[in-house]
Amino acid sequence: MKRREFLKTGLIAIGGTALLAGCGKAEIISKEGQISKRKFRDIEVPLLSLGCMRLPMTKNNEIDQDELEKMTDWCMRHGSNYFDTAYMYVNGQSEIAIGKALKKYKREDFLLADKSPIYKMREQADVRRIFEEQLKKCQVSYFDFYMCHNINANSIGTFKKVNMYDELLKLKKEGKIKYLGFSFHGTPEILRDLVKNYKWDFCQLQINYLDWDVVKAHEQYDIAQSANIPVTVMEPLRGGGLVKLSEKALAKLKADCPDTTPAAFGLRWAASRDNVVTVLSGMSNLQQVKENIETFMDFKPMTPAEEKTADAIAKIIQSQGEINCTACKYCLEVCPLGINIPAAFSLYNNYKVNGQVWTFTMMYETLDESERPDKCIKCGACLKNCPQSLQIPDLLAKTADLYKQLKR
Ligand code: SF4
Ligand code: SF4
Repeated sequence: MKRREFLKTGLIAIGGTALLAGCGKAEIISKEGQISKRKFRDIEVPLLSLGCMRLPMTKNNEIDQDELEKMTDWCMRHGSNYFDTAYMYVNGQSEIAIGKALKKYKREDFLLADKSPIYKMREQADVRRIFEEQLKKCQVSYFDFYMCHNINANSIGTFKKVNMYDELLKLKKEGKIKYLGFSFHGTPEILRDLVKNYKWDFCQLQINYLDWDVVKAHEQYDIAQSANIPVTVMEPLRGGGLVKLSEKALAKLKADCPDTTPAAFGLRWAASRDNVVTVLSGMSNLQQVKENIETFMDFKPMTPAEEKTADAIAKIIQSQGEINCTACKYCLEVCPLGINIPAAFSLYNNYKVNGQVWTFTMMYETLDESERPDKCIKCGACLKNCPQSLQIPDLLAKTADLYKQLKR
């Protein structure tokens, strides 16, 4: 079917192997003038959503409400009606700004996601108190999607201690939360615990083609999928790191896929995972919104050839960092302690390129404690397996030191 015929019919396109765990076989639904959507339970969710962490700012460092409203209006006009905010975004101002921007629309016409700040909780009553505060800030009476924000090795204790889940479940039964989930930056072990011991409607994971193989993203995705929990994706472009590609990585993309851009390629890659409901992009101006929405019109999942290109670009990025590790993983075959060497080096390299302290420390903490760089005993067994002749124990020590320094 030609594109025009396809659009004219306004009918459903089945996107390759699109399967949404927990929701049966999820079609990709494309209609003329609207971005493509996926089925989630009994609703349709746009494949691209507006993440409200990097909102447009004025010179006075305040949210540029006019620009934001141009962005939300464009989104609404094109079917991108899912907005994701959080208590802590933009110093607590994001919820207010997005609430104001959406006020002109009927409540049932948009999907609003918000997150509970675990770090603010001292007792169970705080969960409800803060939730009610968030409703007021957003000027709504319920949230469509609501998450425990950033469950990780540090926050899981508080999550359990204040019985967050029980309180949120009550709010769900009262109709104030439609779908209950969590956003996650912890270890696979914690994720397994969460999906085994609680019932969730969805979870939000950091998924992009760079983190996929090296930094456990694939493992996390598999855990969610095998527990039948659909995924919403955060950081599909790794905080902008996959937009500004190196010369060599960009040349590879242009050679294989001349008609795309790094941003479009990264967003499409994330949305092409079968169990993904929507991909959040922290857009900061109307131009970005327009370009990204265009990418998701009549969406087609990536072809096997494009998947190969993504793997190749990830390898190029990996090998161009200060530590010339190509993530071949040969060292893993011999390390008696199972130190996750390529993951550690990937995090180090990315920090050196983008300087994002929070991303580095948070991702470092997603590694199991037993496989973190500081556990290396300097036995040297890995040295003979490294085709790049890297001084692995020294470089691990450097990575562990960086973590300690940034945590301080
Ligand atoms: S030197 Fe460290 S990383 Fe290398 S094999 Fe020994 S414990 Fe593992
Ligand atoms: S063997 Fe060397 S290049 Fe390969 S993953 Fe390990 S450290 Fe990186």
